[in-house]
Amino acid sequence: MNESVLDRFLRYVKIDTQSSEESTSYPSTSKQLDLLNLLVKELKALNLKDVRIDKYGYVMASLPSNVKQAVPAVGFIAHVDTSSSASGENVKAQIIQYKGGDITLPGDPSVVIKESENPELKNNIGKTIITSDGTTLLGADNKAGIAIIMTAVQAIMNNPNIPHGPVKIGFTPDEEIGAGTKYFDLKAFGADAAYTVDGDTAGELNKETFSADSATITVHGRNIHPGSAKNIMVNSIRAMADIIVRTPKNMAPETTEGYEPYIHPHVLKGEEEKTTLNFLFRDFETSGLVKQKIILEKIIEEVKPLHPKAKIELEIKESYRNMREGLEKDPRVTDYLWEATKRSGLEPKWVPIRGGTDGSRLTAMGLPCPNIFTGGKNFHGKTEWASLWGMEKSVETVLNLIQVWAEKTK
Ligand SMILES: [Zn+2]
Repeated sequence: MNESVLDRFLRYVKIDTQSSEESTSYPSTSKQLDLLNLLVKELKALNLKDVRIDKYGYVMASLPSNVKQAVPAVGFIAHVDTSSSASGENVKAQIIQYKGGDITLPGDPSVVIKESENPELKNNIGKTIITSDGTTLLGADNKAGIAIIMTAVQAIMNNPNIPHGPVKIGFTPDEEIGAGTKYFDLKAFGADAAYTVDGDTAGELNKETFSADSATITVHGRNIHPGSAKNIMVNSIRAMADIIVRTPKNMAPETTEGYEPYIHPHVLKGEEEKTTLNFLFRDFETSGLVKQKIILEKIIEEVKPLHPKAKIELEIKESYRNMREGLEKDPRVTDYLWEATKRSGLEPKWVPIRGGTDGSRLTAMGLPCPNIFTGGKNFHGKTEWASLWGMEKSVETVLNLIQVWAEKTK
């Protein structure tokens, strides 16, 4: 018996798996294990091989090849956790036969999925979409991906006629807090190429992410009782204010899109003695990060003479790199995905991600890992929705993809 992708999805979104940035444990919240342990059970029930959960909560499983030729092992990865930006507790999924127009969510009528803000909706007229009731997020990010992978796995197990090489499955915790690959055991996973199933609109594929660094400017001043501060106090806050006004406003997240880079001041902490400001550097070209560093260095040089007694330091740390460069080393990984998407009757499209993914980190670790659409939209908020058609197309694409790998390997 095949279970539908919708039934699986509805089961997974009911389980609260919100991760937490504040936590120091791994996984960051133990409730993620509720879903991870359930997936172990379900993978075992589907008769996959080597089904296991490690001490960090990573779930892995294998499907042995059913063809003679030595096809590279292809992995599929999804994360169980949901974003902390909206509650994921007691999700009440609404199944809607979409007829067009705005969608007002029943649990909170102030939450409206607007047709004008969701151009994708028009491709779903006459189709089924799933939303929350407006009081929580839906959790399509990334439970749609989990349901898609599990449904594809079941189809492979039930259809020996689908030719495929070795397939590896990986479910991870803590992606939303940037730690999804922290303890990911690449060797144990055993894939030669992998795909995260964590994108959105049907047909959209991702092979590019930002390259990212973080920067910290620290201004050291000198504090003294304000009553006797004349000519002695050096207020680091004032120096930092002069730095902030000089940061480029046309290179900010709120003024850029597509392939445009940004420098984003995002955490400010300070008092007279010491003020720190953290920045995010983001550019699709890794070389652009050096330019961003130079911009801050120039600003610091300009501000120094205005506050000669203050000491100003700049520190840069690498965050992650655009996965494009890693993916170019083996063009099959992206070429076959493109072909598989076309075979699903979709018009494939490469879309740059203005962020990082687990795939960008895995690619940097040596496992090439582009991203596949799930049919979900508006991730991390109460207006999140999922297209059932998009989810079904994603299942089809995953099944086509493993067949393309088997076919093209002689
Ligand atoms: Zn995600």
